[in-house]
Amino acid sequence: MKPVLLLKTHFGFDQFRPLQEEIIDCVISGKDAFVLMPTGGGKSLCFQLPALMMPGVTLVISPLIALMKDQVDALKANGIPAEFINSTLTRPEIDQIQAEARRGNIKILYAAPERLILPEFQLFLKTITVSLIAIDESHCISEWGHDFRPDYRNLIMLRNIFPEVPAMALTATATKKVREDIICQLSLAKAKIFISSFNRPNLSYAVLPKKNSYDQLINLLREQQHESAIIYCFSRKDTEHLAADLRQEGFKALPYHAGLESEARRTNQEKFIRDEAQIIVATIAFGMGIDKPDIRLVIHYHLPKSIEGYYQETGRAGRDGLPSQCVLFYSYADTIKQQYFIRQIESEAERKNAYRKLDQMVEYCELTTCRRHYLLAYFGEDYQHEKCGGCDICLSPKKEIDATIISQKIMSAIIRTGQRFGINYIIDVLHGAKNKKIIERDHHNLSVYGIVDDFSKEDLRRIISQLLSRKLIVKSGDEYPILELSPRGNEFLKKREEIHLPKFKSIAKLSQPSDEFEAGYDRELFETLRVWRKKIADEQGVPPYVVFDDLALRQMAFYLPQSEENFSRISGVGAEKLKQYGQIFTEVIQTYAKENNLSEKDVPVKRSARPHRANRLGPTHLETKKLVLQKMSIEKMVSLRGLSTGTIAAHIEKLVSSGEKIDIDYLRPPVERFATIKAAFQESGGTALSPVREMLGEQFSYEELRIARLFLKL
Ligand code: ADP
Ligand code: MG
Ligand code: ZN
Repeated sequence: MKPVLLLKTHFGFDQFRPLQEEIIDCVISGKDAFVLMPTGGGKSLCFQLPALMMPGVTLVISPLIALMKDQVDALKANGIPAEFINSTLTRPEIDQIQAEARRGNIKILYAAPERLILPEFQLFLKTITVSLIAIDESHCISEWGHDFRPDYRNLIMLRNIFPEVPAMALTATATKKVREDIICQLSLAKAKIFISSFNRPNLSYAVLPKKNSYDQLINLLREQQHESAIIYCFSRKDTEHLAADLRQEGFKALPYHAGLESEARRTNQEKFIRDEAQIIVATIAFGMGIDKPDIRLVIHYHLPKSIEGYYQETGRAGRDGLPSQCVLFYSYADTIKQQYFIRQIESEAERKNAYRKLDQMVEYCELTTCRRHYLLAYFGEDYQHEKCGGCDICLSPKKEIDATIISQKIMSAIIRTGQRFGINYIIDVLHGAKNKKIIERDHHNLSVYGIVDDFSKEDLRRIISQLLSRKLIVKSGDEYPILELSPRGNEFLKKREEIHLPKFKSIAKLSQPSDEFEAGYDRELFETLRVWRKKIADEQGVPPYVVFDDLALRQMAFYLPQSEENFSRISGVGAEKLKQYGQIFTEVIQTYAKENNLSEKDVPVKRSARPHRANRLGPTHLETKKLVLQKMSIEKMVSLRGLSTGTIAAHIEKLVSSGEKIDIDYLRPPVERFATIKAAFQESGGTALSPVREMLGEQFSYEELRIARLFLKL
């Protein structure tokens, strides 16, 4: 059977997500694969579906025992013979599973990595036909990753026992160092590499000022009604206090942190997964072990340490593809707390690195341009749209203010104090703070002392960060960066230029309906179906999402399918689920429809052939290709096509990554500059442009870095 048909029969889905089909084609043709996809990208399907097409067993290595069980439960609910072997099973249970596997009755077998060194398990493996080896969360093999598991080193042995069996490694970890380590350690040199976009279009991003944050939090949670949310806090104590406060307000909220007893941790997590607790208030210790697809809200109630961490934590929202929100409460005061911890780091290199990461996080919070663009650029991806339509900046109506006078005041204060101080000091001077240091230095007698009373501290920080991003002022130093005027800034003052800066207002509701049915599904029916889902899930001892995910219920609550045929077209309804749950759910829908005098609508069958049009080359890329073939310089292309250098560079990058036959050697940067850039990329440990640009400074433009990056791999 063709993969797309198996997708509907076994998993109930109509379309592949980006790259899934290509990855499946690759492994069923017997080749190794390395898969890099963001959380929620749909990695599991990339080994679960091939498993159904191959003769023997697909062996899946996965680090987390709880996850193994949930995944096996989900497979079984779809009628797929799957089992797991780990330390939670008794000897007789393991024996029985192994016997079933020998008889060929198991298609997908999950195992924990520590099993692999047991001689008994190795013997067992030799008695079955293994068709495919899948190593999930494969970054666990790397010491460079955030979640190193020594047991993962045993996997090399698997490769030795089954040298002929195709293997695939899957991860959501974006750093290059870890990526290379995985490929090397698992001998995946010949693997085909699949890297999908890290954009999560269904997630919206917002940063709210940490003022009245508790009230804002309550409002956000009220809007969510019964939907699941994670709130990340700074300390263990914070999580417990906030969870208790929320319970007082009537929310079902539980804490989670590494200091809780393991039993309490387990039950709190379990309650969250089973929709018995709506909210988990956690430290960042929470999240690795859960695949819950319907988390609608991830809140950071404190400032994360790095963009990587932030992106990973927010990534846990909306795995099922439905609109979900990521909200960060920001106040500059939080950075001071973080700086305190950074100061305790002994190694100088690590300390500097930590300051740099924190600084990027602050930069993100103070952005006045698209947040998604910034996040993706951080991971080296070029997000081409001007507005993402899903962040507070892109969604808020932009108003400009004339910032000429306030900018002049700020810049004069920097000059008058001798270009030796940081943001906070400059703001204090402008506000006329009675700060001891200011008085000692006699800065209270400067003409700029106390000349600002119409802008708050936060406003001034924002304006300064915009002056920084416009390169009128520059910042140097790690721990206490100081502000200076750039040559551009001096010119700006001298020529009395005007400047207009955007003014922003945060808006509360960011989620946008992603589909026609989204806006108009029947909430009451949805809630009714949800109750039934929970009831059935409890009877079967599985999490509710294993029965049906939210998308399935929302579609049911929109189309009200009552015939078997119509019901079977709902997303997530495969052959097995139709058989198991079809009748119950159609009856519930029927009753509701009758009582409310509603009629059934036809569920459309979606079957677009290839979903990721966004990745294709368009006419504009091909136009650039023509010019590259003529060996035209970038500057010439820019003037000829009337596009920016950045866009041309991005075109060339896309042409190369799409495998177009073009010779770009004539664009190679001069040897010395290239060596500098290369070293910086190596030091950054990734392929993201912004960290490298930060290291190298203004002497190197983003465009040059982007072009140079193309030659790193050659
Ligand atoms: P990852 O391991 O990459 O984080 P998962 O494999 O857990 O992601 O998948 C995330 C969610 O997406 C799951 O709920 C899964 O059922 C759903 N999913 C995967 N592939 C598809 C698809 N082709 N169509 C619809 N939903 C899908
Ligand atoms: Mg996964
Ligand atoms: Zn945006």
